[in-house]
Amino acid sequence: MADVAVVGGGISGIACATALADAGLTVDVLDRGHRLGGRLATQTLRDTGTAYDGRVVDVGASYFTVDDAGFGELVGDWIDRGLVRPWTDTFHIADGAGVLGTKSGPLRYAAPRGLRTLVEDLATQLPSDLVEIRHPIDVTRVDIGDKGVRIADRDYRAVALCGPDPQMDALVTVDHAPMWEPVMALVAVYDERTWDFDGAFVNDDPVLSFLADDGSRRGDGAPVLVAHSTPVLAAGHLAEPVTAAPAMLAVLRNLSGAMPAWFSVKRWTYARPAHARPEPFALEGLVGRAGDGWAGQPRTQSAWVSGDALGRAMTEMLR
Ligand SMILES: Cc1cc2nc3c(=O)[nH]c(=O)nc-3n(C[C@H](O)[C@H](O)[C@H](O)COP(=O)(O)OP(=O)(O)OC[C@H]3O[C@@H](n4cnc5c(N)ncnc54)[C@H](O)[C@@H]3O)c2cc1C
Repeated sequence: MADVAVVGGGISGIACATALADAGLTVDVLDRGHRLGGRLATQTLRDTGTAYDGRVVDVGASYFTVDDAGFGELVGDWIDRGLVRPWTDTFHIADGAGVLGTKSGPLRYAAPRGLRTLVEDLATQLPSDLVEIRHPIDVTRVDIGDKGVRIADRDYRAVALCGPDPQMDALVTVDHAPMWEPVMALVAVYDERTWDFDGAFVNDDPVLSFLADDGSRRGDGAPVLVAHSTPVLAAGHLAEPVTAAPAMLAVLRNLSGAMPAWFSVKRWTYARPAHARPEPFALEGLVGRAGDGWAGQPRTQSAWVSGDALGRAMTEMLR
């Protein structure tokens, strides 16, 4: 019997598993995806009719920022090993009609081979004698007893639910989770670059909220943009994501100056919480909960901080 089942193989779940294994506890990580990473998601371009088939695109998180010391140490190691690159501290500001100016902010970091590779890197560092990664397994039920937890025919001393509240709360009874917002991510491959920005916040537009230049963030210069919709637009197209494309392409043409040679649309039903709770995690009885719905901001760094903190707290509880 493993000590802890971690449900969710995104960055929060793998951070939690890392903290537990560091303390010598045994862990099963269960994820329903064919690959780990969750919303640090990459998609491989196929059948685009362009020169970019086989190239990966970040279709989930656009980038991440760093101001936590522990996360910063991890990111420093990734930079040293070439897995992460500083991208930009300056995005453009746009509205639906065009690009208006620039705005500087924190340094944003990206991953040359895609953000998913960061979670995969953490997973490969987990000791195989303590941690078993099992996927794809869709956890549909968590049975909580007085002395343990049962999931998919295995018994555990406790469970850590690491991911979006609506996905994890279906497994246990929970009150007062924040609302989660959807996003459509449109990947657009061009014949050539027709724009001059790394990324752009699109303000006061009902269709787009953000644009990222995937070629500049990944460092290969490919003419690929990823456009994120507003939650309101996404909510109207969840049943058939491609129906969001005409409106998104029309604004994209205004901002990039051209229509792409190829596009695809990725649906994120639970892209981010409307707000993240200030507490780093919850641990009630044998059930822990972590992810970017915790630790103050709905961001990649918060997900790692939350998972790491939950793993440490569960270690204390199980000792
Ligand atoms: C469109 C978009 C844009 C974003 N932009 C940014 C950004 O610019 N900057 C930033 O810092 N962050 C951004 N984020 C947020 C960032 O991606 C998340 O904060 C982070 O990836 C959350 O990690 P997590 O481990 O908490 O959750 P997730 O990555 O969602 O991982 C949860 C895992 O649980 C698994 N799972 C769910 N239900 C089950 C089940 N029943 N059984 C088994 N497995 C299950 C899923 O397969 C998934 O792998 C963005 C996210 C999206 C979607």
